[in-house]
Amino acid sequence: MDAQKPLIIAGPCSVESREQLRTVVSALVPMPQVSMVRCGVWKPRTRPGGFEGLGEKALGWIADLSQELKNEGCRSLPFACEVATPQHVEQVMRYGLKAVWIGARTTANPFMVQELTESLRGTDLTVLVKNAPSPDVRLWMGAIERCWQVGLTDVMAVHRGFDVLKNGGYRNHPLWEVPIELRRTMPEVPIVTDPSHIAGRRELLQEVSQWALDLGFDGLMVEVHPCPEEALTDCRQQITPSGLQELLDRLVLRQTDSNVADRELRLLRSQIDRIDDQLLRLLASRLEVSGEIARVKAQSNLAVFQPKRWDSLLQQRLSTAEELHLEPEFVKGIFEKIHAESVRVQQERLSGGEVSADSLDRTDKIT
Ligand code: PEP
Ligand code: MN
Repeated sequence: MDAQKPLIIAGPCSVESREQLRTVVSALVPMPQVSMVRCGVWKPRTRPGGFEGLGEKALGWIADLSQELKNEGCRSLPFACEVATPQHVEQVMRYGLKAVWIGARTTANPFMVQELTESLRGTDLTVLVKNAPSPDVRLWMGAIERCWQVGLTDVMAVHRGFDVLKNGGYRNHPLWEVPIELRRTMPEVPIVTDPSHIAGRRELLQEVSQWALDLGFDGLMVEVHPCPEEALTDCRQQITPSGLQELLDRLVLRQTDSNVADRELRLLRSQIDRIDDQLLRLLASRLEVSGEIARVKAQSNLAVFQPKRWDSLLQQRLSTAEELHLEPEFVKGIFEKIHAESVRVQQERLSGGEVSADSLDRTDKIT
């Protein structure tokens, strides 16, 4: 089996100047893993007043740079930018870009997608379709289908995360189950994860990128800027070209599938890995609460072990287990272990002096 060879799309969130574009692209060209440059020229801003991109001027710089790189005998990389209107498409075609992406806010609106895809009819552009901000896989599928309807054949999905209430520390929660569902229903569509817009901060990029590859997705779209801190848009999530090289070097590439069963197995195993990771994090938070409980019990002069509470807790867990069709003995065993650890942590807190042990009535039974 060959090792996975992810499709890497990299480049600045926005084109800011001729110089910035040249610097970053010249650093990306020699990186063999990079196969497309992303660079926004029209930026969808939630509120007016921010940097909205340089539009046609930036397209001119892209066209000039492509020509210069060609003259210098450099490897030619296709450029992609976001398009949101038929006018954008017309300008992109005029300046010879090879790829476009449909942004998250556009995918959310089927009227706009329809109008946009109509304007893409007859072109041979590569079209990247970002997921809509809401976690409704059908909007994503709908936009892809609208691309197919107008005869586009080179269509990929970009997973950029979702706008949900509990974002788990991400800018846009990855909700991996949504791209997994897209893969299940449209297995022929390559899925590229955009760790930059999911993470929202550089520190999380490696982890998100690795998860995407572990799930068997096909590539990454990463925002790269020569001087990320000074970027006019998304300065917290962009990385330098050498940061990108480091990220790529640290990625663990899995074996590619020899058959469908392998691929499915890998997908399921990484779901198990993520669930286990969540279980462990939940256990850690539960034990933190146990520590707090030790403090409150000490203040109120209560024994660490409260048999009545333990009995009612266990009964409740067993009745939930029954609803969930889980074996009662299995659940009982797990909760006995969890409870024992909670008691141990509480005792440790008390004996470690983190809670005033004096306030405890030593006649209470501590088990
Ligand atoms: C972008 O890629 O620059 C962008 C604006 O992304 P999204 O549509 O995912 O928010
Ligand atoms: Mn961005």
